[in-house]
Amino acid sequence: MYPGCTWEMPGDDNAVYLTFDDGPDPVVTPYVLDILAEYRVKATFFCIGKNVVLYPEIYHRILAEGHSVGNHTQNHLSGWKVKDDAYLNDVQEAARYIRSDLFRPPYGRATRYQMKCLRESGFNMKMIMWTVLSGDFDTGIKPEKCYQNVAVNLRPGAIITFHDSRKAEPRLRYALPEVLKKMALEGLEGRAL
Ligand SMILES: [Zn+2]
Repeated sequence: MYPGCTWEMPGDDNAVYLTFDDGPDPVVTPYVLDILAEYRVKATFFCIGKNVVLYPEIYHRILAEGHSVGNHTQNHLSGWKVKDDAYLNDVQEAARYIRSDLFRPPYGRATRYQMKCLRESGFNMKMIMWTVLSGDFDTGIKPEKCYQNVAVNLRPGAIITFHDSRKAEPRLRYALPEVLKKMALEGLEGRAL
Protein backbone atom coordinates (compact mmCIF):
# COMPACT_ATOMS: atom_id res chain seq x y z
CA MET A 1 0.00 0.00 0.00
CA TYR A 2 2.76 2.44 0.95
CA PRO A 3 6.00 1.92 -0.94
CA GLY A 4 9.17 2.83 0.92
CA CYS A 5 7.73 2.31 4.40
CA THR A 6 9.25 0.04 7.02
CA TRP A 7 6.79 -2.32 8.70
CA GLU A 8 9.23 -4.80 10.21
CA MET A 9 12.99 -5.03 10.77
CA PRO A 10 15.15 -7.95 9.63
CA GLY A 11 14.51 -10.79 12.07
CA ASP A 12 17.97 -12.31 11.83
CA ASP A 13 18.87 -11.60 15.43
CA ASN A 14 16.91 -11.63 18.66
CA ALA A 15 15.88 -7.97 18.64
CA VAL A 16 12.42 -6.48 18.89
CA TYR A 17 11.71 -2.77 18.48
CA LEU A 18 9.39 -1.13 20.99
CA THR A 19 8.09 2.29 19.94
CA PHE A 20 6.16 4.88 21.95
CA ASP A 21 4.11 7.56 20.17
CA ASP A 22 2.69 10.93 21.17
CA GLY A 23 4.95 11.96 24.08
CA PRO A 24 6.77 13.31 25.81
CA ASP A 25 4.28 13.36 28.68
CA PRO A 26 5.34 14.46 32.18
CA VAL A 27 3.75 11.44 33.88
CA VAL A 28 3.68 8.58 31.42
CA THR A 29 7.07 9.03 29.72
CA PRO A 30 9.06 8.91 33.00
CA TYR A 31 7.13 5.75 33.94
CA VAL A 32 8.08 4.17 30.59
CA LEU A 33 11.73 5.24 30.92
CA ASP A 34 11.96 3.80 34.43
CA ILE A 35 10.62 0.40 33.46
CA LEU A 36 12.70 0.23 30.26
CA ALA A 37 15.79 0.91 32.38
CA GLU A 38 14.78 -1.81 34.82
CA TYR A 39 14.66 -4.34 31.96
CA ARG A 40 17.68 -2.83 30.12
CA VAL A 41 15.60 -2.31 27.01
CA LYS A 42 16.16 0.45 24.44
CA ALA A 43 13.25 1.83 22.44
CA THR A 44 12.19 4.57 20.04
CA PHE A 45 9.97 7.53 20.96
CA PHE A 46 8.01 9.18 18.13
CA CYS A 47 7.53 12.58 19.72
CA ILE A 48 5.03 15.31 18.94
CA GLY A 49 6.94 18.57 18.46
CA LYS A 50 4.58 20.64 20.61
CA ASN A 51 5.08 18.21 23.49
CA VAL A 52 8.85 18.50 23.14
CA VAL A 53 8.42 22.28 23.45
CA LEU A 54 6.32 21.79 26.61
CA TYR A 55 8.55 19.14 28.22
CA PRO A 56 12.12 19.57 26.96
CA GLU A 57 13.66 18.00 30.06
CA ILE A 58 11.78 14.74 29.46
CA TYR A 59 12.80 14.77 25.81
CA HIS A 60 16.43 15.15 26.87
CA ARG A 61 16.06 12.34 29.38
CA ILE A 62 14.89 10.02 26.54
CA LEU A 63 18.09 10.76 24.61
CA ALA A 64 20.35 10.68 27.68
CA GLU A 65 19.16 7.15 28.47
CA GLY A 66 20.18 5.87 25.04
CA HIS A 67 16.83 5.67 23.30
CA SER A 68 16.06 6.91 19.79
CA VAL A 69 13.57 9.61 18.87
CA GLY A 70 11.51 10.16 15.75
CA ASN A 71 9.38 12.93 14.29
CA HIS A 72 5.58 12.52 14.73
CA THR A 73 4.71 16.02 13.39
CA GLN A 74 4.41 19.23 15.42
CA ASN A 75 0.64 19.07 16.02
CA HIS A 76 -0.28 15.40 15.43
CA LEU A 77 -1.86 16.07 12.04
CA SER A 78 -3.56 13.53 9.85
CA GLY A 79 -2.08 13.86 6.37
CA TRP A 80 -5.45 12.91 4.91
CA LYS A 81 -7.12 15.98 6.42
CA VAL A 82 -4.71 18.81 5.61
CA LYS A 83 -3.12 20.17 2.46
CA ASP A 84 0.29 18.84 1.50
CA ASP A 85 2.17 22.08 2.18
CA ALA A 86 0.54 22.43 5.61
CA TYR A 87 1.51 18.86 6.45
CA LEU A 88 5.11 19.21 5.30
CA ASN A 89 5.47 22.53 7.13
CA ASP A 90 4.25 20.87 10.32
CA VAL A 91 6.85 18.10 9.97
CA GLN A 92 9.50 20.73 9.29
CA GLU A 93 8.52 22.66 12.40
CA ALA A 94 8.80 19.49 14.48
CA ALA A 95 12.23 18.85 12.94
CA ARG A 96 13.44 22.06 14.62
CA TYR A 97 12.95 20.32 17.98
CA ILE A 98 13.40 16.64 17.09
CA ARG A 99 16.72 15.76 15.49
CA SER A 100 15.97 12.50 13.71
CA ASP A 101 15.61 11.00 10.26
CA LEU A 102 12.85 8.70 11.52
CA PHE A 103 9.24 9.66 10.84
CA ARG A 104 5.94 8.05 11.75
CA PRO A 105 2.73 9.62 10.41
CA PRO A 106 0.05 10.20 13.10
CA TYR A 107 -2.83 7.72 12.68
CA GLY A 108 -0.64 6.03 10.04
CA ARG A 109 -2.26 8.48 7.64
CA ALA A 110 -0.22 10.34 5.10
CA THR A 111 -0.66 10.41 1.35
CA ARG A 112 1.78 8.75 -1.02
CA TYR A 113 2.82 12.20 -2.19
CA GLN A 114 3.48 13.45 1.35
CA MET A 115 5.55 10.36 2.15
CA LYS A 116 7.47 10.68 -1.10
CA CYS A 117 8.34 14.29 -0.22
CA LEU A 118 9.47 13.28 3.26
CA ARG A 119 11.67 10.48 1.94
CA GLU A 120 13.38 12.64 -0.66
CA SER A 121 15.77 15.58 -0.66
CA GLY A 122 15.37 18.18 2.02
CA PHE A 123 13.89 15.73 4.52
CA ASN A 124 15.55 12.38 3.71
CA MET A 125 13.38 10.68 6.31
CA LYS A 126 12.72 7.01 6.86
CA MET A 127 9.01 6.13 7.13
CA ILE A 128 8.58 3.84 10.12
CA MET A 129 5.23 2.09 10.43
CA TRP A 130 4.67 -0.95 12.69
CA THR A 131 4.28 -4.70 12.77
CA VAL A 132 2.00 -4.72 15.82
CA LEU A 133 -0.37 -2.17 17.32
CA SER A 134 -0.88 -2.85 21.01
CA GLY A 135 -4.21 -1.00 20.86
CA ASP A 136 -3.36 0.81 24.10
CA PHE A 137 -4.97 3.99 22.70
CA ASP A 138 -8.33 2.17 22.45
CA THR A 139 -10.35 2.92 25.58
CA GLY A 140 -12.79 0.17 24.57
CA ILE A 141 -10.41 -2.75 25.13
CA LYS A 142 -9.19 -4.40 28.32
CA PRO A 143 -5.53 -4.13 29.35
CA GLU A 144 -5.20 -7.92 29.03
CA LYS A 145 -6.32 -7.72 25.38
CA CYS A 146 -3.73 -5.05 24.76
CA TYR A 147 -1.03 -7.38 26.10
CA GLN A 148 -2.35 -10.29 24.01
CA ASN A 149 -2.23 -8.15 20.84
CA VAL A 150 1.51 -7.83 21.36
CA ALA A 151 2.21 -11.27 22.80
CA VAL A 152 0.89 -13.18 19.78
CA ASN A 153 3.08 -11.14 17.44
CA LEU A 154 6.22 -10.96 19.55
CA ARG A 155 9.03 -12.20 17.30
CA PRO A 156 12.48 -11.02 16.17
CA GLY A 157 12.24 -7.95 13.93
CA ALA A 158 8.77 -6.89 15.10
CA ILE A 159 8.12 -3.15 15.46
CA ILE A 160 5.64 -2.76 18.32
CA THR A 161 3.62 0.38 18.92
CA PHE A 162 2.59 1.72 22.32
CA HIS A 163 1.68 5.27 23.35
CA ASP A 164 3.24 7.28 26.18
CA SER A 165 0.03 9.28 26.55
CA ARG A 166 -2.54 9.78 29.32
CA LYS A 167 -5.22 8.20 27.16
CA ALA A 168 -3.24 4.98 26.79
CA GLU A 169 -1.90 4.93 30.34
CA PRO A 170 -4.37 2.50 32.00
CA ARG A 171 -3.69 -0.19 29.37
CA LEU A 172 0.00 0.65 28.98
CA ARG A 173 0.69 0.23 32.70
CA TYR A 174 -0.60 -3.33 32.52
CA ALA A 175 0.63 -4.40 29.08
CA LEU A 176 4.13 -2.94 28.96
CA PRO A 177 5.52 -4.74 32.04
CA GLU A 178 3.96 -8.00 30.82
CA VAL A 179 5.56 -7.57 27.39
CA LEU A 180 8.94 -6.79 28.97
CA LYS A 181 8.67 -9.93 31.14
CA LYS A 182 7.85 -12.04 28.09
CA MET A 183 10.76 -10.55 26.14
CA ALA A 184 13.13 -11.38 29.00
CA LEU A 185 11.79 -14.96 29.24
CA GLU A 186 12.21 -15.50 25.52
CA GLY A 187 15.66 -13.91 25.35
CA LEU A 188 14.48 -11.09 23.09
CA GLU A 189 16.57 -7.93 23.19
CA GLY A 190 14.77 -4.56 23.03
CA ARG A 191 16.58 -2.33 20.60
CA ALA A 192 16.15 1.25 19.41
CA LEU A 193 15.60 1.91 15.69
ZN1 LIG B 1 0.28 9.52 17.31
